[in-house]
Amino acid sequence: MDVVIVGAGIGGLTLALFLHRAQIACQVYEAAPRMRPLGVGINILPHASEAFAELGLETSITHVSVLTREAVFFNRFGQLIYREPVGRYAGYDHPQFSVHRGDLQQVLLDAVVERLGPDAIVPGWKCVAIEQDHAGAVAHFESSTTGQSLPPRPAGVIVGCDGLHSAVRRMLHPLEGPPLYSGVNMWRGVTAWQPILSGASMIRAGWLKTGKMVIYPIRDNVDGQGRQLVNWVAELEVPREIQRDWNRQGNIDDFIGAFDGWHFDWLDVPCMIRSTETILEFPMVDQDPLPWWSRGHVTLLGDAAHPMYPRGSNGAGQAILDARALATALRLQDDPVEALKSYEAERLPFTAEVVRMNRRNPPDAILREVFERTGDRPFVRVEDVISERELAALSEGYKRVAGLRPRVARTA
Ligand SMILES: Cc1cc2nc3c(=O)[nH]c(=O)nc-3n(C[C@H](O)[C@H](O)[C@H](O)COP(=O)(O)OP(=O)(O)OC[C@H]3O[C@@H](n4cnc5c(N)ncnc54)[C@H](O)[C@@H]3O)c2cc1C
Repeated sequence: MDVVIVGAGIGGLTLALFLHRAQIACQVYEAAPRMRPLGVGINILPHASEAFAELGLETSITHVSVLTREAVFFNRFGQLIYREPVGRYAGYDHPQFSVHRGDLQQVLLDAVVERLGPDAIVPGWKCVAIEQDHAGAVAHFESSTTGQSLPPRPAGVIVGCDGLHSAVRRMLHPLEGPPLYSGVNMWRGVTAWQPILSGASMIRAGWLKTGKMVIYPIRDNVDGQGRQLVNWVAELEVPREIQRDWNRQGNIDDFIGAFDGWHFDWLDVPCMIRSTETILEFPMVDQDPLPWWSRGHVTLLGDAAHPMYPRGSNGAGQAILDARALATALRLQDDPVEALKSYEAERLPFTAEVVRMNRRNPPDAILREVFERTGDRPFVRVEDVISERELAALSEGYKRVAGLRPRVARTA
C-alpha cells in the first residue's frame, strides 16, 4: 500500500513519520512552493508530546521550545484567580511544550527528509481533485506557481491533511459552508521580553467581552541576556469576519484600546504589545463536526477533519493523535478501506467532543465564571467568588474530554 498525504502541516508531517515507522510508503504533497515557518506560538500538551516521544522527537523539540511549568489565570485587573502545574510538573510522563509553530514544523520536516528521503515532500503541488474506484484512488494536482496541471498520482490511500480550508474535505462534503465565525477575533505576535512570572508560565487573563490575553514564552534567551521570545494573543468579541490565513497582518489600533489599562506589577501588557514588530490576525472559527470523514480510499486528518477553536491548545495535538491512530489502523489491517473506517470510528467521536467542548467549556471558562460572578469588577478575595474546587473541576473537565491523563490518574 502507498499513501498520498495532501498538506505538509503538523498533521501531514506527523502522519508521514508514523507511516514510515509502520513501514508504509508515503509521499507528502504541499501546495506552498516553499516551506516557510508560518504562524506563531502553539502549545503541545502531554498527550501529543507522548506521540512525539514515540517518534524519537522529544529531544529535538525540547531544543526549540520552552517546557511549560504552570497555567495561570488572572482577571483584567491583574488579580490572580487560579494557578496549576502542567506537563511533567503535574505528574505527566511527557512535557507540555510551548513552541513556535514554524520551529515545530521545521523539526518535523527535518525528520521526514532524514528518515524518508528528500523526495518524500513535494512542494508546489496543489491538490485540486480526487477520483476513486474499488481498486484505489487518484489525486490530481496543479502547480501552485503556474496553475498548470501536473501528472496524476494514484495511491492506495489519500489523506487530506490540508487544514482549515481543506480542498479534500470540500470534495467529500461539497454542500458544507465556509468555517463558522465564533464572534471572537484574535491578534497575535511574538516579542523579545524578560521572563514573566516563572519564565515558563502560560498566562490567560481577562475575558472575551472586554478583552482577553493569552501569553507564554516559546524560546529561551534569544538575545544572550536572558530575554525570551514571548508569544501573546489578544482576543476580543467583535463583529469582524475575515478569512483565516497563517500570515494575515493585523493592525494594533483595532484592539489595543481594550488593553490600555493593563499595567500590572507582573507585566505591562500594552507596553509588551507595542514592542511587537509584526502583528497577525486570525478569526476564531471552527466547523460543526462531520458525520463521516472516510469514503473508500480517501479520508481526512487534523484541521481538515475537525477544525476547532484554539482555546484548549488542542488543534495540533488532536492532529498528532489522528496521525498515530491512522498509521496504526493501516498497519493492522490489510484492507485500506476497512482501516480508514476503524480510524474514523476511533477518532471522529472523540474529536467531535473536543470541538464541542472548545465552544462550551474550554480551560478559559474559569475566566468567564469570574467575569460573570464579579460583574467584571475587581474582587477582594477570590475564594468569595469561586472555590478552589470549582476551579479545579472546570480545568479537569476539559482535560478529561481532550484525553489528558497524568500518571497518578492512570495508575489509580
Ligand atoms: C491562533 C491559533 C492558535 C493555535 N494554538 C494552538 C495550540 O496552542 N495548540 C494546538 O495544539 N493547536 C493550536 N492551534 C491549532 C493548530 O495550529 C492547528 O490545529 C494545526 O496547525 C492543524 O494542523 P494541520 O496539519 O491539520 O493543518 P495546517 O497546519 O493548517 O496545515 C495544512 C497544510 O496543507 C497545505 N494545503 C492546503 N491546501 C492544500 C492543497 N489543496 N493541496 C496541497 N496542500 C494544501 C497548507 O499549505 C498547509 O501546509 C492554533 C491555531 C490558531 C489559528
